[in-house]
Amino acid sequence: MRQQKWNELAEVKRELAERDWFMATSGNLSIKVSDEPLTFLVTASGKDKRKETAEDFLLVGADGKPAEATHLKPSAETLLHVEIYNKTNAGCVLHVHTVDNNVISEWYGDKGEVVFTNQEIIKAFGLWEEDAVFRIPIIPNVAHIPTLARMFAEHVNDDAGAVLIRNHGITVWGKDAFEAKKFLEACEFLCSYHVKLLLFKR
Ligand SMILES: [Zn+2]
Repeated sequence: MRQQKWNELAEVKRELAERDWFMATSGNLSIKVSDEPLTFLVTASGKDKRKETAEDFLLVGADGKPAEATHLKPSAETLLHVEIYNKTNAGCVLHVHTVDNNVISEWYGDKGEVVFTNQEIIKAFGLWEEDAVFRIPIIPNVAHIPTLARMFAEHVNDDAGAVLIRNHGITVWGKDAFEAKKFLEACEFLCSYHVKLLLFKR
C-alpha cells in the first residue's frame, strides 16, 4: 500500500515538475496511506522537487509529525494537509506556488475570493451547468503556520476543494491523486487565463 502510494505521489510530483511548478524548492504534496490511524506521505522539506530521490517523501501522522524514525523533516506547511485529512475524506493534497496563482491572489485578495464563470474547464470540478460558478477563497499569508492552518481550515468543508493563500500559492485537494491533479490543472488554467484577460482589459 505504502509503496503504491509513494509511486502515485512520485508520478504526480514528476508531472508537476515538468510544468515547472516547484520554483525555489517551493510547493508540497501529500497522499493518504491509511485511515486508522491516519498516516500520509508528504514531501520532505527543502528538497529540489524536480529531482527524484528515495528521500522525497516521509510518512507522518495526524499531527503532521513523522510517524517513524527519520532524519527528514516534513514540509513546513504540512499542518495545512493535516487539516484536510482530519476534516474530510480527501486522499491527496497538492500545493504549488506559481506566478499566475500569486497574481490572481493579490488582485482579488481584498475581496477574499476569486469567482470564475462561463468557462468550459470548470466542468473539471463537476460543475456542468452553463452558468455554473466556481469560487476559490483567498486567505492572507501568515508566517505563523499554526495560525495559517486555522484560517485555512475554515474553508475546508468538502472532500474536494481549493484555497488561495495571498501572494503565496494554491492548495488543492481531492479524493485521490488523479482528481487532485485534475483540479490543480484546472485552477492553474483559470488563473493563467484570467491574468491574460486582465492584461487585455486594461
Ligand atoms: Zn507554500
